[in-house]
Amino acid sequence: MVGFITSAVASERLEAIRQEIPPAVELLVVSKKQSPATLIPFIEAGQRLFGENRVQEALEKWPALRKRFPDCELHLIGRLQTNKVVQSLNVFDAIHSLDRVKLIEALVKHRRFFRPNFYLLIQVNFAGETQKGGVAPENLTSFIDLCNTQQLPIQGLMTLPPQDEDPKPYFEQLKALADKHNLPRISMGMSADYRQAITCGSTIVRLGTALFTDSL
Ligand SMILES: *Cc1c(COP(=O)(O)O)cnc(C)c1O
Repeated sequence: MVGFITSAVASERLEAIRQEIPPAVELLVVSKKQSPATLIPFIEAGQRLFGENRVQEALEKWPALRKRFPDCELHLIGRLQTNKVVQSLNVFDAIHSLDRVKLIEALVKHRRFFRPNFYLLIQVNFAGETQKGGVAPENLTSFIDLCNTQQLPIQGLMTLPPQDEDPKPYFEQLKALADKHNLPRISMGMSADYRQAITCGSTIVRLGTALFTDSL
């Protein structure tokens, strides 16, 4: 049966991945495009941290899942439109994709909706890829200064390296920037490159395919 996963299988897959991840690194399971029926076995197997890339999809799936599993933690890993800020603050415990001044302004305006322990990561766009969000590295210092002036809870940086390139130099640059700005959380590494990302200092890896694909 396509897409049907038992708790035992979910448990095995999580265990196999966790063996490659040091205890200090968080495993964020990317649940985009996965149905609640697919996700529940992973929650029952002990996984609590999940990520979605679309606000609408998160709002459709997670309120019911949260009711049943209140200690799940949900992060937004995709682009956020300013007109969805309030809705997203309802459902997300952290946002990995803060990337522009307009979004800073919208978050400041609606800060009363922040969930307890809510935090933000700034997405960095190293290669100037216009199809991706992210602050250019040369603008990062002033962007962080602005966030600090507004007392936003910035805890780290996130990046998506260009596809078909060695991600290592990008991971190293993100780690260097996080250290420079004293930011403790570094969100980098997906199914294809999380081992490298961990070697370079990742503190949160975001995995989808590695957990949901049958052949793995
Ligand atoms: C989909 C997605 C991932 C997970 O990618 P996989 O290759 O399936 O592990 C990680 N980060 C972001 C931002 C994504 O959109």
